[in-house]
This record gives sequence, structure tokens and C-alpha cells, in this order.
Amino acid sequence: MKKCLRRFSIKGFQEVTLIDWDGKIASIIFCGGCNFRCGFCHARGLVLDEEGIEAVPFDSVESFLKEKKGWIDGVVITGGEPTLDEKELIGLIEAIRGLSLPVKLDTNGSRPNVLKDLIASNSVDFIAMDVKAPFNAQAYSMAVNAPVEIKDIIESRDIVLDSGIEHEFRTTVVPGIVDISAIAEIARSIAGARRYCLQQFVPRDTINPSFLDITPYPAEELNRMATVASEHLNDVVIRNN
Ligand code: SF4
Repeated sequence: MKKCLRRFSIKGFQEVTLIDWDGKIASIIFCGGCNFRCGFCHARGLVLDEEGIEAVPFDSVESFLKEKKGWIDGVVITGGEPTLDEKELIGLIEAIRGLSLPVKLDTNGSRPNVLKDLIASNSVDFIAMDVKAPFNAQAYSMAVNAPVEIKDIIESRDIVLDSGIEHEFRTTVVPGIVDISAIAEIARSIAGARRYCLQQFVPRDTINPSFLDITPYPAEELNRMATVASEHLNDVVIRNN
């Protein structure tokens, strides 16, 4: 078991975050690699140069989590895209839960079978799924700048909605990719979700440098989007970080 854990390709570890799991003091593990190339992505190194980032030994993560037992409420696994290697992800989750810590998984929703397995085995406590654009192939491919199996994204949405576990969907509101009508369409498509989060776009360290020139929507527009989304959803939040 330990051998398997140490092979897990952890590409970053942040000891403490107060903003990545609402209401929790969490640690974050970053996985390398992603099958999408969203121009607005801030995880340039993780996505484009996974091999160039030295792996963080799991032992050091484990030591920290043991040392801070009772103080850290849970661990967020994010990326890149953590679901690309199911076996490794399951090994990592088992190791974290072995320390009696709950796990939140961030995902782009491209691997529905992995989500299905994790939910069936009761392995995750919270899933946050990105919704990059309305659920149609053309809009989605444009948003993620990569080929997309839209049926997989839709299947992941349905799996998360039906999971019975805590979850949220979230959209980075990038001008030119989503507007208020797209947000309304997304909100309609995820009716029944526990939470929908509108994330402000920050033009900094983007994978595609041309996104640095995009002016984010003003706060008033985000508020209007939240109001429109609230017609379909009970809990809509705006995040500015
Ligand atoms: S923002 Fe897009 S490119 Fe970046 S990690 Fe998420 S899915 Fe991958």
C-alpha cells in the first residue's frame, strides 16, 4: 500500500487554505496534467509542464497532516485534473481518509466513470465540478480549447446531482466565453444542485497570454448573473478569489 501511495504524482501541496472548502480549514494537494487547455487557467505549470515540476513526496504531506491532526478539517484534491489517473487518485484518497480526514475533489467532469466509482465506494465527501460553458459541444470546446466529449460532461453532471453527497458546480465568468444568457442556461441545466458558484475571472498568469487583456465583468454584472441563476437554484454564490 505505501509503495503505491509514494508513487502518486503530487505536484504541489499547500498546507493551509481557508477559501477552497467553504467553512473548513483545509490543505490542498495539486495533481499534474489536464486534458483541457482553458485559456483563462492559472495552473500553467501543472497543465503544460507537469514533468518539469518536482513531485512532493507523500511522506511529507502525511507528516504535516498527522502533526496538525485536529486542526486541519479536510484535504482538497485539485489539479490539473485529478481524475485522469483513477488508480493513483484512489490510492491517495485512501491514504488521506486513513488519517481520518474528509476529502473534497475538484474536477472538470471529463471522467464520469471515475466519479461514479468514487461515489459508489463512498470515497469522497464533497465534489466541486467545473461547468465551463453551457452543455453543448461547440460552446464547451471553445471554452476549454480542446476536444470535448460533451456526453461525458453531461453524465458527470448527472452523477454529481444524483450523488446525495455535498457538491457544487462552478463557472469562471470570462467575458467572451460566458455571458448572462449562458449563465441562465447553465443554471437551468443544473437545477437541483446544492450550490452554484460564479467565480470572477482574474486576468493573471493565464495559460493563454491573450486572456491577460480581457477586462473582467464588473461586480454589478456578476450580481445580475447571480440573480438570474437564482431563478433556478437555491444557493448561488459569487467568489472573487
Ligand atoms: S482550468 Fe481548464 S486547463 Fe486549467 S486545470 Fe482546470 S480544466 Fe484544466
